[in-house]
Amino acid sequence: MPLLYEGKAKRVYSTDRADEVRVEFTDAATAFNGQKRAEIEMKGVVNAAVSARLFQWLGEHSIETHFVEQLDDRNLLVERLNMVALEVVVRNWVAGSLNQRTGIPEGTPMDDPVVEFYYKNDALGDPLLNDDHIRLLGLASADLVARLRQEGLRVNQVLKPFFLQRNLVLVDFKLEFGWNSAGLLKLGDEISPDTCRIWDQTSGERLDKDRFRRDLGRVEDAYQEILRRVMN
Ligand code: ADP
Ligand code: UDP
Repeated sequence: MPLLYEGKAKRVYSTDRADEVRVEFTDAATAFNGQKRAEIEMKGVVNAAVSARLFQWLGEHSIETHFVEQLDDRNLLVERLNMVALEVVVRNWVAGSLNQRTGIPEGTPMDDPVVEFYYKNDALGDPLLNDDHIRLLGLASADLVARLRQEGLRVNQVLKPFFLQRNLVLVDFKLEFGWNSAGLLKLGDEISPDTCRIWDQTSGERLDKDRFRRDLGRVEDAYQEILRRVMN
């Protein structure tokens, strides 16, 4: 079936149903707005399986997602969504750009999660947006912004204990939402070590894409460790 879209880490194909697409997870990894590129062996297999498991878990906890079924080790069948051009980031611990923006040390826990919106726009480098910027750009109504924030927090409440049961701390993560053919808002894209920061609760070891971003080594091992624990 025709390729609809080739992204940095996934390919989206049409299916024989107009309202469903097949998402193929590749081993391609990029960081720093595409400046750093590599292949992470078996990453696509890990991210497909982890995403499928987490979407299934969220579905069982009354979060609406695009997930239909896993087709094979790298392919998910999902509902076709008209994506909102925003990345919704939810943070429980300070890390990454929040550390750079505020100076609060990485690894500082936060009593209340912080929610941020980024413009999904590679040419601009996915900049942080405030509510007025979102309105100015016409990316979402004030109502939708409030809904996205609420959904992000709900996903956080479901995923945090899932990871804690596996001795993993969910530091932060990125979500993408879109509209299905029936006009329902659904969680889309992926939830994986590419899009979450996940630290071992005991050792603090980073088991996510930061191992690649920061050249920490043992990247493949970290992805495999997340797969092992998430599938448990
Ligand atoms: P990027 O576009 O950032 O390079 P990917 O390589 O992950 O990212 O490409 C996947 C693309 O598919 C993203 O643009 C994402 O918004 C989009 N997408 C995710 N889920 C769906 C869906 N259910 N329907 C249509 N598009 C989707
Ligand atoms: N993230 C993502 N895609 C992006 C930007 C961020 O999945 O394009 C995730 C990232 O993996 C982390 C969280 O969102 O879990 C917060 O990322 P941050 O803003 O700290 O940016 P970074 O420093 O990772 O670029």
